[in-house]
Amino acid sequence: MRDDLVVVTGAGGFIGGHLVADLRRRGFNRIRAVDIKPLDQWYQRFDDVENIVADLRLRTACRLVCRGAWRVYNLAADMGGMGFIETHKADCMLSVLINTHLLLAARDAGVERYFYASSACVYAAAKQRDPKLTALREEDAYPADAEDGYGWEKLFSERMCRHFMEDFGLQCRVARFHNVYGPHGTYDGGREKAPAAICRKVAEAVATGHHTIEIWGDGRQTRSFMYIDDCIEGITRIMESDILYPINLGSSELVSIDELVSIVEAIAGIRLERRYRLDAPQGVRGRNSDNSRILAELGWEPSIPLRYGLERTYRWISRELLRGGLGRKDAAVLAPAFGSEAGVAPVSAA
Ligand code: NAD
Repeated sequence: MRDDLVVVTGAGGFIGGHLVADLRRRGFNRIRAVDIKPLDQWYQRFDDVENIVADLRLRTACRLVCRGAWRVYNLAADMGGMGFIETHKADCMLSVLINTHLLLAARDAGVERYFYASSACVYAAAKQRDPKLTALREEDAYPADAEDGYGWEKLFSERMCRHFMEDFGLQCRVARFHNVYGPHGTYDGGREKAPAAICRKVAEAVATGHHTIEIWGDGRQTRSFMYIDDCIEGITRIMESDILYPINLGSSELVSIDELVSIVEAIAGIRLERRYRLDAPQGVRGRNSDNSRILAELGWEPSIPLRYGLERTYRWISRELLRGGLGRKDAAVLAPAFGSEAGVAPVSAA
């Protein structure tokens, strides 16, 4: 199996880049990494991997990248943190084209197994109004009232995976990621999520000497955050498992945004004056991952402590800021690429 072709989409992004790195470490020697971004903007890129730049909203591109594939991990989506998904609902929904065309191509190519990255944003809003009662069970996705735009696309795509499995026999595995963070991801430009944004703001305060921090919302909204290493291990375990329904993959260590800021301040050795922006996008009041099912199925759950993961993330973002790194460019990359079949991928391969 180590010689069979594994395709990772969204490989120039945060989780996809780490997944490619992990597959290499585990000895897979035929990996096809695909992303719409130009190669010089991928967070991680490896010369011994077949790197392809392609717009996977296009069916022809999906057919090309699935050719000869044994397994497909679909991590490509037009997405970002709350600041992005609340203001780009149509863009988020257009990711339905990626999963639809990839599923069709995977089915036609005889792919052995297909992984889909879903999200906790599929969960019904009514279950997330209280910052204290927050642990979401898999069944809480229905009756459906998902996050507008992004969450509805994820829920629809989950179901498409289910029906491709039932009707066409394509083996699908689906994980609902709860907020993933770590090095080699977006920390600036409008798509960043809370942990990366807060690490960046604290690092900027250290660098500039301006000891204030802007926090979106009142700071009392709660979340759980999963370190990237747990995410990659979870993807691997779920892909190898017989779990045939969408399952939570997230940490159950619940913190408020204020607590998250305090942890990063402690890592940086600084205290900042907090300014709360109540008009900023902030998402649901509370969200946590109920891990009963993953524990029952796998005897495992994400367990890397937040403090440990944030130390590594903070260190990476500080270094990137110092050398004017990639994150800043990320926001503008996607929009112009879509539009005509003339731009059909693969635009380029390396
Ligand atoms: P990311 O934005 O870093 O990576 C996604 C990648 O997909 C990007 O590099 C982007 O260029 C690529 N992409 C977008 N449109 C494309 C297209 N048309 N063709 C080819 N590539 C395209 O995001 P991530 O955090 O690595 O997320 C990976 C997956 O996990 C996504 O499906 C996301 O919705 C899901 N997810 C992530 C989180 C999280 O906290 N990071 C939470 C829930 C779900």
